[in-house]
This record gives sequence, structure tokens and C-alpha cells, in this order.
Amino acid sequence: RSNAEKFEFQAEVSRLMDIIINSLYSNKDIFLRELISNASDALDKIRFLSLTDKEVLGEGDDAKLEIQIKLHKEKKILSIRDRGIGMTKEDLIKNLGTIAKSGTSAFVEKMQSSGDLNLIGQFGVGFYSVYLVADYVEVISKHNDDKQYVWESKADGAFAISEDTWNEPLGRGTEIRLHLRDEAGEYLEESKLKELVKKYSEFINFPIYLWESKEVDVEAPADEDETTDEEDTSESTSSDEGEEDSEKSEDEETEKKPKTKKVKETTYEWELLNDVKAIWLRSPKDVTDEEYTKFYHSLAKDFGDEKPMAWSHFTAEGDVEFKAILFVPPKAPQDLYESYYNTKKANLKLYVRKVFISDEFDELLPKYLSFLKGLVDSDTLPLNVSREMLQQHGSLKTIKKKLIRKALDMIRKIAEEDPDESTGKEKEEVDKSSDDDEKNGQYAKFWNEFGKSIKLGIVEDATNRNRLAKLLRFESTKSDGKLTSLDQYISRMKPGQKDIFYITGTNKEQLEKSPFLERLKKKNYEVIFFMDPVDEYLMQYLMDYEDKKFQNVSKEGLKLEKDSKTKELKETFKELTKWWKGALASENVDDVKISNRLDNTPCVVVTSKFGWSANMERIMQSQTL
Ligand code: ADP
Ligand code: MG
Repeated sequence: RSNAEKFEFQAEVSRLMDIIINSLYSNKDIFLRELISNASDALDKIRFLSLTDKEVLGEGDDAKLEIQIKLHKEKKILSIRDRGIGMTKEDLIKNLGTIAKSGTSAFVEKMQSSGDLNLIGQFGVGFYSVYLVADYVEVISKHNDDKQYVWESKADGAFAISEDTWNEPLGRGTEIRLHLRDEAGEYLEESKLKELVKKYSEFINFPIYLWESKEVDVEAPADEDETTDEEDTSESTSSDEGEEDSEKSEDEETEKKPKTKKVKETTYEWELLNDVKAIWLRSPKDVTDEEYTKFYHSLAKDFGDEKPMAWSHFTAEGDVEFKAILFVPPKAPQDLYESYYNTKKANLKLYVRKVFISDEFDELLPKYLSFLKGLVDSDTLPLNVSREMLQQHGSLKTIKKKLIRKALDMIRKIAEEDPDESTGKEKEEVDKSSDDDEKNGQYAKFWNEFGKSIKLGIVEDATNRNRLAKLLRFESTKSDGKLTSLDQYISRMKPGQKDIFYITGTNKEQLEKSPFLERLKKKNYEVIFFMDPVDEYLMQYLMDYEDKKFQNVSKEGLKLEKDSKTKELKETFKELTKWWKGALASENVDDVKISNRLDNTPCVVVTSKFGWSANMERIMQSQTL
């Protein structure tokens, strides 16, 4: 086109598009949900703006917040249109030519190596999936602040933008026209599109319409050589008695009118494809597990076939009213603990009276729970204020408090319902129905994926420290290679044992051999193994549990049952210990003592009560924390 301005894609975008075009990835269906998801985001944005300025919506059809899908079979065009916020010329250049998120190259690489384009939405590049099915794409967009533009590209490294002087004015919003490849003919079938919307876009909170063809009977002038039209009439309407009646009365009238006959004709109608009643407003007992799973997939933009590990759907009442659904994902994302303290993390969507406000509120959940997905819809929060004002609203604190409680309850229940978690007698009593099978080992799975978050929670959240400590799992000298809990440890404590013993290190083999354990093992005391670098950090915050103190067995202060000989030995070796302490420079050791913690090993170096353990020294040196 003569007025078109040409642009080149950012290098990574070009690479990504090449990967997509040449992809052998078989699930090409995903493009539709990505486009619908973008349309829905754009509608959320304009609806949010309209809260403070009604004018932005315009009038008539423009004010209808909906998504429309249309087919042009002869031209092989599939178009998706929304009345969302639209894009200015600048937006088109920026949003559909560059990748805004950081770490761009890394995920382009990942897409290439894994070949799994299912994750494309999570990476914030879902739009480009259109090139799975189209070889030429036009994006027509009208934003309130600009004229209407057309963005177009054949995925050949470049795109063009022109002021739109030939298409019908959109009013506001965006229309994406996909010129489908020959192999993508299936997407010209209405039934296919309906199936896809049902499958992937069921929980979109705006109506999705399909311009659907319908075969209808219409009256047409009869051909000259047609003998009777009565046969025609009865045939085409035989299934519908009501119509037959009206036909008869018409028949009487036809005597004066020219003869007509019935013919099939194709007409079009907007057919609503989704149920827009928000799932979180429904009563939990009316929502099936499949629905929660599907909802999780659309919320997390994670379309694998794994079920979330757990969910909690509840209504909070009282001063602050809200509804929420929280999910524990089936897996932790790879970067969950990467630069944990430096990146903003929030995965809950905030709605106020069904209006989407933001998914960037990190005031809703503490950092350590940021692995959860979900949403909160509150009736108490004000609608007509800015995001910044909302962020400071007093109710958020109450919401956060309740969300944490519910989240920890949900996690505790994973353990409670897991037959593998119970020990001894209880275990035999657990009836292993098929339902339990699924729950078997769920908590170990949870712990494996998100255990670190619980530990970070103990560090960060003093208020819930005890609740979180209940969720801790670890191996010990008596756990037999399995995970065990503090409660289980306590139930096995020896009569008279006051402290909970633990030792820290990098691996079990090394710890098992530690001289610090000799005596404890011999006397049949259980010792916890802490082997994660974060454990050292954790134990600086976790001082006690159920009135029992924690004692690092490699540190000063280990009190075992008094040995009758100890006092005697102290006396006997008094001179030796004195000499020894003098022989070692004072900056190397604080003291030399007779100890009852050893069995075979003659002596051992112990850390002072408040000093760093040897393991901590090692961690600090390697900076792995
Ligand atoms: P994401 O949706 O994760 O941001 P996409 O690749 O799907 O990534 O879309 C890129 C950007 O293009 C969006 O963030 C949005 O700014 C813009 N965009 C895409 N589709 C639309 C649309 N229908 N209306 C308005 N803006 C859109
Ligand atoms: Mg998107």
C-alpha cells in the first residue's frame, strides 16, 4: 500500500516467528485462545478506564464489551474482533514488533529447544502464535486517542503500518484478520471454532459470539413449471407443527398472491459461545473438579493436562467481604526462586465487583506464597478510584490476612488427605479407595516443588511461623529415607528429651558419618538432617516448636542425659583441658571442654551457640543462599 510505513521486527521476534512458522508443533489450536485472551485483556482495560470516565466507552455498539468471531470461507479469512481499548499507532509498533518482557532471548531459546508452544501465553508472546495457522495477518485497530490503523505482516522479518482509509471504521477496538494457510482449512469450520472456544476460552468474562450460518426455509417465487407447492410446504415444515398452522392460513391467502415455494437459504446470526457467569461467584458445591481444573489452566495460562495440586474456593464475610479461589499449581515454575528478593511477584488477580482491576497487586499475598495462582473478587473495595489509591486501601490488609490463613489451611489439607503422610497404626486404617490413590504422595510432591517457599515463609512471616513449621518436612536419622514432620518427631521423642536435635550439612552420606551423631545415635536420639542451604537461614528464625527448643548438635549447648562419669572425667582431665586451651591460640577456639557427645571419635570442633555452624561458613563462602 502506498501510505504504508515499513518496520523490522526486533531480532528475537523474528527468531520466534521463524520458530513458529517452521514448527512441527501439532497443537495449532492454541492461536485462538491467545487471540481471545488478548481481546479479553483489552476489554478489561477499557472497562477499568470506564470506572472513572464513562465517556471512554462511547455509545451504542461501541459500548458493548464483547468479542466477535467471523469467517470468510471463500477468502479463507478468520477474524476476531473486540471492542477493547485498541492500539494507537505507537502501541502497534511497540506491542506487535518487540517483546517487552525481560529475558527475551532465554525464552525464545526455550521455545526452540522444548518445541512446546503451549507455554507461549505465559511468556507474553501469545500473539505470534497466529503464524501457526496464517501466512498473512492484518491487525486493524482503533484507540480512542488515535486514528484507525492497519498493521500487517507476512512473517518475513518485517511489518507495515498504514492509516486505515479503506476498511469499515471500528469505532473502538481491534480486529485481527488471519489469512489462513491452505493446511489450516479446519479453522474455517464453525464447529471447530465452537469446540475450541468451549475447550480453552470457557472462562473468559466477556461474551464471545460466532457469526454462525443457519439454514432456514424462506418463501421464494415458485417456478413456472412447479405443479403443486403444497407438497413442498408439508415436507419442509413437517417437523414443526406450530409453523404448519401458520402455513395453512397463509395457504388460504395465497390464492390472491403469486405462487411461492419453500427454499433453503443461509442466513447468519451471532451465536453466544460461552457462559459468562464467573465461576467464583458460583457456589463451590455446583462447580465440578473438571471445571476448577479448566479454570486453573486458563488463569495460569498453563494448558498442560496436569491438575492443580489443590484449590480452595471460599467466601469471606465480615467487615471485608470477598470471594476467592486459590490454586496450588502442579509444578513450580523454573524461575520461582531466581532473584527471589528483587523481583515483584504476584499471581493473584484482583476484581472488584466482577471488574478486573489488576494482577500486579503484590499486597494481596506475601512473597513466599507467590507461587499460588488465583483470584479475589471483593465487594467492599471501592470501584471508582485509581489503582494506586486502591493499593493503599485498609481492607487489603484484612484480605491478605484471610488469604494467608486459607492458603495455609489448603496446604495443610494436602498433607491431611495424603495417606502416605500418616504413620504406623493410622496408616493401616487408611482405606485406600481410588480417590486416595490420587492423593497418595501428594504432600511429598508438594514439598518437592514448593517446600522452599514454606521455609522462606518461616523466615518472613513471624505471625504464622508455627502454622508454617507444622508444614515442614525433612529427613532424619530415623525417617528411613522418607520425609517426616516435627509433630512426628515429637511423637518419637525419648522420655525426658527436651530439645529437638538437628544437624546441617550438604548431603546425607556426609551427615550420617558425622562424629556429632555418634553418641546421639547410640543413645537412640533422633536427629533431623537439614541439607538445603536455606535451612541454615531458616534455623536462625525457628527457635522452638511446641515448647521444644531446637538444638544444633554441632553447636555448644547440647545436653544429653547426665553421664555419672562426666564429673569425674572433668576432674581427671582438668589439667589437660587447661593446657590444651592455652596451646591453641585464643582467636581459634573459645574453650576446650570435656564432652559427652562423642563415642569413638576422640575430639571434635563445636561451634559456639551464636556462631555460624561449619555448614553456614561454607554457604557464606560459596554465596549460594
Ligand atoms: P501478552 O498478551 O502476554 O502481553 P501477546 O503477544 O499476546 O502478549 O500480546 C502482546 C501485546 O499486544 C499485548 O500486551 C497488548 O498490548 C497488545 N495486544 C494484542 N492483542 C490486542 C488486542 N486485541 N487489543 C489491544 N491490544 C492488544
Ligand atoms: Mg496475550
